[in-house]
Amino acid sequence: MANKEIPYKIYLNESEMPKYWYNLRADMKNKPAPLLNPGTAKPMTAEELGGVFCEELVQQELDNDTREYPVPQEILDFYKMYRPSPLVRAYCLEKKLNTPAKIYYKFEGNNTSGSHKLNSAIAQAYYAKKQGLKGVTTETGAGQWGTALSMACAYFELDCKVFMVKVSYEQKPFRREVMRVYGADVTPSPSMTTRIGQKILSEHPGTTGSLGCAISEAVEVAVGTPGYRYVLGSVLNQVLLHQSVIGMETKIAMDKYGIRPDVIIGCAGGGSNLGGLIAPFMGEKLRGEADYRIVAVEPASCPSFTRGVYAYDFADTGMVCPLAKMYTLGSDFIPAPNHAGGLRYHGMSPILSQLYNDGLMEAVSVPQTRVFDAAETFARTEGILPAPESSHAICAAIDEAMKCRETGEEKTILFGLTGTGYFDLVAYQKYHDGLMDDYVPTDEELAKFRARLPKV
Ligand SMILES: *Cc1c(COP(=O)(O)O)cnc(C)c1O
Repeated sequence: MANKEIPYKIYLNESEMPKYWYNLRADMKNKPAPLLNPGTAKPMTAEELGGVFCEELVQQELDNDTREYPVPQEILDFYKMYRPSPLVRAYCLEKKLNTPAKIYYKFEGNNTSGSHKLNSAIAQAYYAKKQGLKGVTTETGAGQWGTALSMACAYFELDCKVFMVKVSYEQKPFRREVMRVYGADVTPSPSMTTRIGQKILSEHPGTTGSLGCAISEAVEVAVGTPGYRYVLGSVLNQVLLHQSVIGMETKIAMDKYGIRPDVIIGCAGGGSNLGGLIAPFMGEKLRGEADYRIVAVEPASCPSFTRGVYAYDFADTGMVCPLAKMYTLGSDFIPAPNHAGGLRYHGMSPILSQLYNDGLMEAVSVPQTRVFDAAETFARTEGILPAPESSHAICAAIDEAMKCRETGEEKTILFGLTGTGYFDLVAYQKYHDGLMDDYVPTDEELAKFRARLPKV
């Protein structure tokens, strides 16, 4: 097959599309650590989790053994609207870099929500509908997850209540409006509609909110409203399971043409796109069938892998969620204003954390202005306006390709292009006007937050 002419963009036929999600945990010798009940420090049971999350999603969350999950037909039908996503050879970027490396990217931005998050949003909405629920609640920071969930809920006619961090609600009115097109009820957080919101507003009048606070409000409403559950767009095992569709499509497309990546690169916020992209490749690595270098890229301002610790921590600032063992900077770590909103999370997927701890993958951090340099090089060569989050992966891929130029190696580099940047033009504006800084937290600052980790 390897001598087939390789198209510029590889799309799978309907018959070639993956029919199941791949559960990487089944092949992990060291399983990710279980979520703990913050009150008892005992592993969360299905019953406890079922008060907050949908039943089948709880089962997926706890299942470390089932290798393949058939994708329900209703979800396959929805995927047809925007999948397969293209696997693209970045010829123009290669030419510009004058590198012998071959660069491929898997582009997940070709849907209205503008990112890969729709892959899991539709799955979570499906299971909520199947359970006969009336609706779901969630939080959104920059807005990508809220938009994806709104689309998914509209498709299955579910109510969708989104708590949007107030500063984003005010600064990103267009994202908010897209959510409302899809029928979501969007509330700026903190709000007076929840007890926790009222408390925070009375203690900190004028606060512009945080992701942690929005999570606490969304969970309070889900738990307190009959027929509602809470859903989350990253970090959780179930989300990585759904996102494996990215890696499955990529692997099938590469195998079809005999392409084998040497390095696989992805940006890492909570770890869902990277966990999804690498899943089948990491599976081969875990089973000893092949070897790949796998690289997570994070912002230097929020360096969970490269400067965090592997420990149990709260998943949210409000400390209402279960404890997760992960690479973390501390749940009250507040990253400096950074324009990749989707990467400003203090923790990391427990699955990726375990793999990183076991030396099965690497991580690098990159400063913000270098990320935007890379974004612009990419936009000017490959045509796509990339999301700032995705541009972290572009930056690391360019660095790899430049190393190949020095050594003459013809490496094959694969990276995940998670989304488009049309709603991030204020960030691009700051970059163009020279107003973007490269703040990096000091060791002393990080130590302060680390000292406040829960003692488990
Ligand atoms: C949310 C988001 C990310 C980061 O989330 P992960 O869970 O780490 O994948 C990356 N890129 C885009 C475009 C996003 O919207």
